[in-house]
Amino acid sequence: MAIELQALPYEQAALEPHISANTLSFHYGKHHAGYVNKLNNAIEGTDYAGKTLEAIVIDSNSSGDQGIFNNAAQIFNHDQYWLSMTPDGVEAPGGALGEAIEREFGSLEALVDQMKSAAASLFGSGWVWLASKDGALEIVSTRNAETPLVDGKLCLLTIDVWEHAYYLDFQNNRVAYVDVFFDKLANWKRAAELYK
Ligand code: MN
Repeated sequence: MAIELQALPYEQAALEPHISANTLSFHYGKHHAGYVNKLNNAIEGTDYAGKTLEAIVIDSNSSGDQGIFNNAAQIFNHDQYWLSMTPDGVEAPGGALGEAIEREFGSLEALVDQMKSAAASLFGSGWVWLASKDGALEIVSTRNAETPLVDGKLCLLTIDVWEHAYYLDFQNNRVAYVDVFFDKLANWKRAAELYK
């Protein structure tokens, strides 16, 4: 059973004018799809074949199978990233997540400021996450394909800060992309559902 390319949760043009259909056609259609093809080729005939994506990420991390891990984790990370954005507008989370954010960060604005700083200052390629473990919230920066999943953390929201995520629309201006992600696209509704 091969690992599938998860369908995008919206049309490729749905995030315009913030992120273009052109960016999504490369980012989803070439980069993300490429990780899926490479992983399926790499696991064929191995003990990884038939495992779930999450199990492949966790097991390849423990065994030090770096090539398998890089592709599997990048698939998992991109699956989370597409779901971390919504074309329906940014809506502050209520409920348990809203309360936890106020308790641990003071306000959503304070949390977002810290995540923006983490995304702007991450050197090279990687990801910035809002994750939780046993209910406690945490901002996590990971390099390359690394993912909080391997530490047993729940991934609530993530921004991809590899250059391929923004270069076509923003060139080298990562800060402008990070601002657009949090100000126009962040899907707190899904984060709140996962946290609950
Ligand atoms: Mn990416």
